[in-house]
Amino acid sequence: MASPDYKIHANTAAELLHYRPYDKPKLGGGTEQCWTRFATADENFNVVAGDGSQFLVKFDMSFSKKHLVTFSKKEWRTEEEKWLQSKQPGQRTDEENWNNAQKQLLDNKILRTLGIRSGKGAAVNCKTCGHPKSNNPPGSGHSANPANPRCMVNGCACVAYVSRYVEERRDEGKPDIDPYVGKSGQESTCIVLNWIPKSEFIRVVGDSITAADHGNALPDSVPHPYTSQTPFIHLTWTFAGRPGAVRSATNGALSLENGTWCRVGAFKSTANLPGGIAAIWTIAHLDNKG
Ligand SMILES: [Zn+2]
Ligand SMILES: [Zn+2]
Repeated sequence: MASPDYKIHANTAAELLHYRPYDKPKLGGGTEQCWTRFATADENFNVVAGDGSQFLVKFDMSFSKKHLVTFSKKEWRTEEEKWLQSKQPGQRTDEENWNNAQKQLLDNKILRTLGIRSGKGAAVNCKTCGHPKSNNPPGSGHSANPANPRCMVNGCACVAYVSRYVEERRDEGKPDIDPYVGKSGQESTCIVLNWIPKSEFIRVVGDSITAADHGNALPDSVPHPYTSQTPFIHLTWTFAGRPGAVRSATNGALSLENGTWCRVGAFKSTANLPGGIAAIWTIAHLDNKG
């Protein structure tokens, strides 16, 4: 089934994302069909380097949901925020208010993601007792001990943390109920796909691969025999002249507003290649940016 075309994504790297339908329960019974992004494990892009080499890019460890962000697909949400922006002091054009609205919604999204990933955001408060997931500072939330995740708030009888965020997604019928699962983080970096033209993104990622792997000569990445960790090959994605294509938040606030590049850790595979594809690169980690 074809995904809907989101006007906001047109000709931008956000068009590379795939969506799948799901049935959302309606108030009062029945369901309505809604669309949600593919889980990280199912997402993949075709990219092409300047020399014509084609690669299939896949993602690992929640990467696409954690690090690839888009503007709100809901135009009414942006319209609503634009109206709020237009009430701010000062004279601005309609277009400026619209751009500010998109940026504001994006900031909210990045901070919300960080709140979920750090365990400090209200979105991941406990569904049972309402207290935070994180017990930092001590006595404010649930113990991080997996054997005894009880609530450490004085007088609270809750014995196990249950994520409100995950349960709400489950109640909505979303197929990917915990898209940020994995190691928690106090920092969140996002690549803003709507601010990068689709053709540029495809070329930048393709060229980052040929720069790291001249002539497709590197062997496949295989786990290290002693540590069983697969060694990363680093790829640098530079979106020159596009400040804000890369943004970070740290400890509850935006810390990088106008980044133009990031470095990712990836694995190479040449097993079971689809036709025309020189290698499959799986992006697993974002390790530096600026
Ligand atoms: Zn509690
Ligand atoms: Zn609780």
